[in-house]
Amino acid sequence: MINQRNIAEILPSEDSLRKDIKLTLKVHPFHTDSLTYSQRERAVYHDRSDCIHGQRIKQDGYAVPGTEGRQLCNRCADLNAGLDDFFPGDEGA
Ligand SMILES: [Zn+2]
Repeated sequence: MINQRNIAEILPSEDSLRKDIKLTLKVHPFHTDSLTYSQRERAVYHDRSDCIHGQRIKQDGYAVPGTEGRQLCNRCADLNAGLDDFFPGDEGA
């Protein structure tokens, strides 16, 4: 059972909440070996939970922990650099 009042008391103020979200968006590196994906997608790893490419791998269940010597995905790099716009139009081509 979830107590609404307790949740409201636990939630931090908006500022610190935003900071917490930033922190939690960073995840342990993962990549994919699945042939479901293009060679380019298999050549990179992800370390952001808000990366749309990484999200798809996770959702499909093909995420493998670690970097395996891969390069960081462009989207994750942008997000790590603070370019976390909510309208990803650049697919990193
Ligand atoms: Zn990524």
